[in-house]
Amino acid sequence: MPDTRLIRTFLEPHHTKLAEQAGGFAIKEIASRPEPIEDADARREARALLGLIGGGGWLQPILDLDLRACCLMREALGEASPLADAVFALQGLGTTPILLGGSQAQKDRWVGPIAQGKVMTAFAMTEPGAGSDVGSIATTARREGSGYALDGTKTLISNAGIADLYTVFASTDPAKGPKGISCFLVPGDAPGLRFVGPQVLSAPHPLGEIAFEDCRVPADALLGTEGRGYGLGLATLDRLRPTVAAAACGMAARALTEALMHVKQRQQFGLPLARFQLVQQKLARMATDLTAARLLTYRAAFEKDQGQERITSEAAMAKSFATEMAQRAVDDAVQLIGGRGVLADHPVERLYRAVRALRIYEGTTEILQLIMAGEILKTADR
Ligand SMILES: Cc1cc2nc3c(=O)[nH]c(=O)nc-3n(C[C@H](O)[C@H](O)[C@H](O)COP(=O)(O)OP(=O)(O)OC[C@H]3O[C@@H](n4cnc5c(N)ncnc54)[C@H](O)[C@@H]3O)c2cc1C
Repeated sequence: MPDTRLIRTFLEPHHTKLAEQAGGFAIKEIASRPEPIEDADARREARALLGLIGGGGWLQPILDLDLRACCLMREALGEASPLADAVFALQGLGTTPILLGGSQAQKDRWVGPIAQGKVMTAFAMTEPGAGSDVGSIATTARREGSGYALDGTKTLISNAGIADLYTVFASTDPAKGPKGISCFLVPGDAPGLRFVGPQVLSAPHPLGEIAFEDCRVPADALLGTEGRGYGLGLATLDRLRPTVAAAACGMAARALTEALMHVKQRQQFGLPLARFQLVQQKLARMATDLTAARLLTYRAAFEKDQGQERITSEAAMAKSFATEMAQRAVDDAVQLIGGRGVLADHPVERLYRAVRALRIYEGTTEILQLIMAGEILKTADR
């Protein structure tokens, strides 16, 4: 359960209440669900989790654009189940472009069912040739009659094959580079949209490739105006990066809890492991790093909620620090638990598989470091 004492300066009373309630929900209804082993089971479980999370009204913070509340949700879910966290995260990624750039008619059509968990969304940006270099997207959307025809391939897409609605980035004017990228809402059953197949991760996560083959969508599938997609995509990532940091904090907190339980009861050399100073050093480092990551995370979310237009640097700091921290913390927890920590289905073994991707998606650590350095150098030049 997210500990709100440390971050209380960044929270309002409704956040403290939410943290308690979301923590209770995650512990009671999510944590006890068995981890799916096969990819097909993970896909079914993702849908079941969406029903549970949406049905309980837990997606509301996304629609309210309440970033601190989204962070609290992801911290609570990340601690209980990385798959449940991913389900929440993907509703956020798929929906935020609609909230930031959609017309009232688009919002009226999609937002209600998304909030109830009846429509599962996906965010289709990455391509075989366009990963970190988002501006090099090669999927095209050409004007065809009164609508558009999309062609191209998207890879490493979460919820691929199970989403009801894809937020798709495609170029309406390739000669303009990033300024020619537009954003479209494409229903999962649109003619010409094909699920190529799953890309199976070591942790349960419905990932896969999709292809657009003369995929026809009406003109009102366009979000905002032509050429606005790149800005919408980056604004979405900027806004949601602190939530990735929060999920990382939830996973690290769980790792620390598991490690603490173990070192207090496990005896070697006639003493509980917790009595050995090398063990204590690891615990101290995990707790310090987690504290620092949570402060960076909620600082970034607080600034956004206060109306700061861009939190590029704050979000990059929070996401890169927290995800690197979580990887170290989970690794330390496995080390402290020893052989049992690498056995399949131990909570820290599950975290070990799940935490790795967080340093890669929504901006790799290296790309975020480039962003931060750019901001620092700009300030130094003034
Ligand atoms: C679990 C998971 C879920 C994902 N879900 C989605 C999704 O739902 N939607 C979506 O659109 N995408 C998704 N992705 C894709 C993700 O956003 C990309 O993997 C990420 O942007 C990196 O792109 P890439 O994998 O092509 O790596 P590359 O861009 O090829 O990078 C490879 C390495 O090179 C480094 N690198 C690249 N450029 C530079 C540079 N200029 N300087 C220094 N180092 C550099 C990177 O940091 C990285 O270490 C997901 C990925 C994963 C792993």
